[in-house]
Amino acid sequence: MKVGFIGLGIMGRPMALNLLKGGSDLTVWARRPESMTPLLEAGARGAGSAAEVAAACDVVFSMVADAADVEQVALGAAGVVEGARTGLIFVDMSTIAPAAAQDIAARLADKGVTMLDAPVSGGEVGAISGALTIMVGGDEAAFARVQPLLACMGKTATLIGGPGAGQVAKACNQILTGIGVMAVAEAFNFARKSGVDAAKVREALLGGFAYSRILENHGQRMLDRNFKPGFKAWMHQKDMNIVMQEAHRLGLMLPGSAATAQLFNAMVGSGMGEEDSVAALKLLENMSGA
Ligand code: NAP
Repeated sequence: MKVGFIGLGIMGRPMALNLLKGGSDLTVWARRPESMTPLLEAGARGAGSAAEVAAACDVVFSMVADAADVEQVALGAAGVVEGARTGLIFVDMSTIAPAAAQDIAARLADKGVTMLDAPVSGGEVGAISGALTIMVGGDEAAFARVQPLLACMGKTATLIGGPGAGQVAKACNQILTGIGVMAVAEAFNFARKSGVDAAKVREALLGGFAYSRILENHGQRMLDRNFKPGFKAWMHQKDMNIVMQEAHRLGLMLPGSAATAQLFNAMVGSGMGEEDSVAALKLLENMSGA
């Protein structure tokens, strides 16, 4: 199979590199041509547009930002649909709203393109090491065809259900990680304001029921004051916005998610949008006179 990859940012670049390492015949396109350089140096072919990628491939992956970007790349001018042959499988791995994924999948199906939504968890570290958790929505036969490619990028790929189901699973993931980051930041801010060493608190709690990968990994980055992204705060704001819109549509009460969404809103509003979401600690400190 000839494989394409569109969107070579923090996540997309290492994911595409892992497809190459797995032996894929790979064609790439990025909005800023310089983003393609590491892939071209590693043996990928470069294309001039998403349509050119589609014309050269049987399967095309995208890893961009939000729903409007996926729509543009898939259905916009010089988008995938303009170059696609009937039978193309388009796998979007960005995090977008489930309803948007369903809408884009239906419009692509009209043009003979099968779309899978396949968002991921595991962050930049998981993308580099090929150990992502991949949550898939869409057609079972298409999932079976792309599974060997997903295995180059992730340690697990689970078909959750029909179109949009992968994005529902990812929204659940963002509820857990968003509230988790806020919980760790609150605990550390509480410890410091109480005159206690937050590093010692983390060390002790890692041995108890409060253990979590977020306390371990994100907690360490908070202690190191390492706010380089990683996962940008504006991206987490985007994801909590998806969660809150779905809650509104479904008539769901999600009080923890609502509070966390406010935290990320305030981070973006106070100029921290491009920092990692663990900079939530700084926001809480600023608001507590720390
Ligand atoms: P990023 O570093 O900002 O990369 C996004 C890339 O998409 C950029 O290179 C950008 O191109 C490209 N792009 C955006 N809109 C585009 C458009 N309309 N047309 C063409 N290219 C476009 O972000 P990231 O951290 O890799 O995140 C990508 C996706 O993965 C997001 O949906 C995010 O929520 C999800 N995700 C991220 C993480 C993480 O830890 N970072 C973890 C899980 C999931 P330019 O460089 O030209 O702007």
